[in-house]
Amino acid sequence: MKNIRNFSIIAHIDHGKSTLSDRFIQKCGGLSEREMSSQVLDTMDLEKERGITIKAQSVSIFYTDKNEKKFNLNFIDTPGHVDFSYEVSRSLSASEGALLIVDSSQGVEAQTIANCYTAVDMGLIVIPVLNKIDLPTADATRVEKEIENIIGISCKNSIKCSGKTGIGIDSLLESIINNIPCPKGNIDSPLQALVIDSWFDNYLGIVSLIRVKNGSIKKGSKIRIMSSSKTYFVEELGIFTPKKITKNMLICGEIGWIICGIKKIHSILVGDTITLDHYPALLPLSGFKKIKPQIYAGMYPTQSDQFLYFKEALQKLSLNDASLFYETDNCSALGFGFRCGFLGLLHMEIIQSRLEREYGLNLISTAPTVIYEILLHNNKIIYLDNPSKFPNKTMIKELREPIAECNILLPKKYLGNVLSLCSEKRGKQKNMVFHNRQISLTYEIPLSEIVFNFFDRLKSISSGYASLEYSFIKFKKSNLDRLDILINSEKIDALSLIIHKKNSFNQAKKIVKKMKDLIPRQQFNIAIQASIGNNIIARSTIKQLRKNVIAKCYGGDITRKKKLLEKQKRGKKRMKNIGNVDIPQEAFFSILKIN
Ligand code: GDP
Ligand code: MG
Repeated sequence: MKNIRNFSIIAHIDHGKSTLSDRFIQKCGGLSEREMSSQVLDTMDLEKERGITIKAQSVSIFYTDKNEKKFNLNFIDTPGHVDFSYEVSRSLSASEGALLIVDSSQGVEAQTIANCYTAVDMGLIVIPVLNKIDLPTADATRVEKEIENIIGISCKNSIKCSGKTGIGIDSLLESIINNIPCPKGNIDSPLQALVIDSWFDNYLGIVSLIRVKNGSIKKGSKIRIMSSSKTYFVEELGIFTPKKITKNMLICGEIGWIICGIKKIHSILVGDTITLDHYPALLPLSGFKKIKPQIYAGMYPTQSDQFLYFKEALQKLSLNDASLFYETDNCSALGFGFRCGFLGLLHMEIIQSRLEREYGLNLISTAPTVIYEILLHNNKIIYLDNPSKFPNKTMIKELREPIAECNILLPKKYLGNVLSLCSEKRGKQKNMVFHNRQISLTYEIPLSEIVFNFFDRLKSISSGYASLEYSFIKFKKSNLDRLDILINSEKIDALSLIIHKKNSFNQAKKIVKKMKDLIPRQQFNIAIQASIGNNIIARSTIKQLRKNVIAKCYGGDITRKKKLLEKQKRGKKRMKNIGNVDIPQEAFFSILKIN
């Protein structure tokens, strides 16, 4: 145990965590030159394509130090995006230390601070790592000052390195050995192992990643899940190097995987404690804070016979993503589906893509919404996550919307732009602190304004330099209305949304216009209207189609005709026919597409 070091690699997105992980694996890991690819830990196709880490990945490597002493290093590469911070906090709870990676050509960003504070709160040793020093624009000294001034941790023990070229990696490894404590725990105590992650394998059943905190676990052991008291036999266990290696035993301090041949989903939950049946621990470990989704949306299979399969896919996926929430939902426009809760828009996008790729589903989703708190006249409080379930106005005493505390970090010259964006988004300034080069701003902004397109706007008005971190803090009384959309005079429940009165007319106009652009023309006129209560506040008409698509071809080039028809067919896949009108996926998202 003295020779084990467990740590997480944390940072703002793109500061180089996954690249640094590659260097560690290349230097001390269990992959041959041929097996080594760049960003080996981003195993999901989606991660590779988007160049982001979505799931935290754990790896065991073996390092021999200057004095020929052998060490087992277990590290976890974590995602940097705010939507996946739950992955980060789980990884940290399996670690004694954290490498705080900061891009030394950029500097401290909002997520650097947030992740660092999470690590410090959990009592971890944090090593500041000034990365990308190979870049000509790198200025490690300036960035160290930023870390000390803005975050408030000392850079006495910081390391300067480049994950790309490998400079400084040796000093970093030495620093890990010397500064991060070995795991505590008692190998003779009853087994307590924390389930950090779980996923479903069609052949093996549930595979769980665990951190053994006390005792040890062997192949063949009869284990007990402390939350349910259910017992299972360990069929196989081992570590990731990052290859899956089988072992006979995991001892306290180690991080590894176990398989117990469990096919029933939700038998081992993330945060559960595993103990031995014949020598059980008295108490479970503290587990993880339950997290609440920030946005909700309906998801419906385009073919209604896929409903059961969709349900199974959600069950399997939620095993691997404890932050995903779902419950059955039935809407008149889209039929049977699920109301799902997500941590943010990126999370929603990723889940939808994973469902489509990993499970071959074809889904239509409604515009996401935040959750509202409604005080009724009978003094009951209800939480509304679906605009179409908005109660009758006469029942409502007070409507409250969720407010987020936002921390924004930006270089000075963008202050004007950012302040006007925040006020446009109904923000209330709480604090403004000037550091050398940067300013940190604290605002209270309605969550609905933040989760949709705030981040993109913030990036574009600051040439990409401003960064944002936010969290829900409270519900606050607000002037809200439900906006309904009517297509050919029929109210479509799946298109209803909740908006603020301040700019309801303006918004309604923009939404109607956007829909007009997105819904394809058909053989008849389509009237699109937006209403609040019984008042139509915006309208527009999609004129009927005159020519068919092929008419555009003029000549008789058959391959072109085929291509056009092919394109039209593909376009159709993502549509839902509602009251004779084909509504494409994008139209459901019109609210997100307007500024
Ligand atoms: P992550 O989001 O923190 O996991 O960051 P990645 O490891 O995916 O790296 C983000 C980008 O920075 C990629 O394009 C990397 O090639 C690049 N990068 C990472 N480390 C270095 C480095 O040390 N030097 C340079 N020049 N580029 C780096
Ligand atoms: Mg990454």
